[in-house]
Amino acid sequence: MQWKIPLSDIDFGPDERAAVDSVLQSKWLTMGSVTEEFEQAFAAYIGAKYAIAVTNATAALHLSCVAAGLGPGDEAIVPSLTFVATANAVRYTGATPVFADIAGEEDLNISHHSIEKTISERTRAILVMHYGGYACDMPSIMELARERGLKVIEDAAHAVGSELGGIKLGIWGEMGCFSFFSNKNMTTGEGGMIVTNDEAYSQRLHLLRSHGMTTLTWDRHRGHAWSYDVVDLGYNYRIDEIRAALGIVQLGKLAVNNERRRRLTQVYREALQELTPQVAVPFTHHAGISAAHLMPVLLPGRTNRPGLMESMKSQGIQTSIHYPPIHTFTAYNGGKAKQFLPNTEDIAGREVTLPLYPAMSDEDVFSVAKAIAQALVPA
Ligand SMILES: *Cc1c(COP(=O)(O)O)cnc(C)c1O
Repeated sequence: MQWKIPLSDIDFGPDERAAVDSVLQSKWLTMGSVTEEFEQAFAAYIGAKYAIAVTNATAALHLSCVAAGLGPGDEAIVPSLTFVATANAVRYTGATPVFADIAGEEDLNISHHSIEKTISERTRAILVMHYGGYACDMPSIMELARERGLKVIEDAAHAVGSELGGIKLGIWGEMGCFSFFSNKNMTTGEGGMIVTNDEAYSQRLHLLRSHGMTTLTWDRHRGHAWSYDVVDLGYNYRIDEIRAALGIVQLGKLAVNNERRRRLTQVYREALQELTPQVAVPFTHHAGISAAHLMPVLLPGRTNRPGLMESMKSQGIQTSIHYPPIHTFTAYNGGKAKQFLPNTEDIAGREVTLPLYPAMSDEDVFSVAKAIAQALVPA
């Protein structure tokens, strides 16, 4: 389908092509010096001591759960209004994800009150997800976690470059996980990163990323080692030099692109308020600086959402839903598990995500707002 206004669009140009070409010419494709450069640049950008590049954010979340010590018999509290990877990562370790509700119409993030009510004797960790790049209430969540001795892992897949109180998201908790999938704010095709300020976590994550081996092919290539020991049950979650090279260029463009996303979000807010004020826009009073990954809106109750999305589609405008809640999925007990998540269920039934990407024009935003206003007029 050829969209007039797609949901998202990547910003790739000659710099990305040159970066990839230079890796190809070097003939060293697997994890090496370009990956190290990407990790250092990313750590510096976030203000983290350590950054570990991995093959995708799902792997980043899995390794973080392993490093946090999650295993069979443990529980981790997660939002249900997130991508399924947040909860799957917990299950890979044998631990059980337990869902907490979101705050409400204004704040689509996991609520610290709901987290508190969900804590049991088995709870070991909290996984938060910064919806659309808007920060969770990290001061309250970190305080609660400290009181109860729980680890906090941030799913910051939407939040590369987001801040709260002058601190970047991803380093509020013990570990933060980022995604460089094709529709994220910066992309390497597939790719991910874990950040942490803790040396012990960093060492364990480095081992787990590559089979628990004490040296890398890269070390042996450079003559720094000739053999290795295997000291942990690790995985192959490595990134490669081609994607790391893309990441370096994309990171350089991030600040400007995020600024443009925030500006477009403001244009959306004004246009929607003027043309169709019955559509609610969450995060109006958000305190931090958002990476503005998504443009979520909430339709009035009883709106025919599929009909509205179909009408937008007929005008060449792509929309989406973030997210079908995890606790309703077949692989999560088909929603039969006892869960009381009234805010999640209300919001998930009314949410529509509108197009948002840096190359979008202000006129595009007005076209989208007009299309919604028209679609909402009773026929
Ligand atoms: C994209 C995304 C992921 C998964 O990222 P991958 O890099 O595709 O594995 C996890 N959580 C959230 C919230 C995401 O949006």
